[in-house]
Amino acid sequence: EAIIRLEGLGKQFATSNGTVTALDDINLEIRRGEIFGIIGLSGAGKSTLVRCINYLEEPTSGRVIFEGKNLSAMKEKEKRLARQSMGMIFQQFNLLAQRNVLQNVCFPMEIAHMDSRKAKERAKELLKLVGLEERMKAYPAQLSGGQKQRVAIARAMATNPRVLLCDEATSALDPNTTKAILALLKKINREMGITVIMITHEMAVIEAICDRVAIIDHSHIVESGKVSEIFSGP
Ligand code: ADP
Ligand code: ADP
Repeated sequence: EAIIRLEGLGKQFATSNGTVTALDDINLEIRRGEIFGIIGLSGAGKSTLVRCINYLEEPTSGRVIFEGKNLSAMKEKEKRLARQSMGMIFQQFNLLAQRNVLQNVCFPMEIAHMDSRKAKERAKELLKLVGLEERMKAYPAQLSGGQKQRVAIARAMATNPRVLLCDEATSALDPNTTKAILALLKKINREMGITVIMITHEMAVIEAICDRVAIIDHSHIVESGKVSEIFSGP
């Protein structure tokens, strides 16, 4: 069953030097419960693709279907709920420096007007899940890169998303920390049934945890399928 379907998705930007095509006729199906990788070089269109999937960016053509519904046909409120169903994780963590770990994880729940006691309880559970309950009171500057990403993952889970969209989530981390973060994402996928989308330029990330992969090159999907079939040796 498809949780996200991209149909003929296109995105162009008007610039002073004319039109730039970032995405051209992207067709993809991401299945509920899988870990799906999207790999490509810098400039291929990966970030634009992520921003179209969660509708931070309006596609120029084509459609994003989320859980059977066309995002562009949704009313604002429905769109906001759909966006809350997709947790985002970034390369540079994007934590709030002035807030401690617990407050960072509570932040999306505040925005969603959740009762603050309930939010704190849930945040503590999520911090336990990512192995950081001991650092609740620490500030981001006091944490290592891997710890910051764990906080970001807990925060992304706060609104109970059905999808985690990870944009170069391990690209700022050393190899051992990368392994630990990938293992955590896999655990979240397998134990909680959350669909994970990994955007990356690193083959090792795809090989480590992805079930299926699409290769994006110059705004096009040039190949997609099972990781074992696409990246099998000679
Ligand atoms: P990637 O994430 O794979 O590095 P991007 O999606 O950032 O690729 O960019 C794809 C192409 O679209 C690049 O040529 C980039 O310069 C262009 N692009 C992205 N965003 C904009 C924008 N806001 N305005 C103009 N061009 C853009
Ligand atoms: P990434 O490689 O992670 O996409 P970039 O540095 O390419 O990072 O892009 C950072 C931001 O700049 C994004 O919001 C993107 O949309 C925008 N951007 C990228 N290329 C261009 C461009 N040629 N003109 C204007 N904005 C751009």
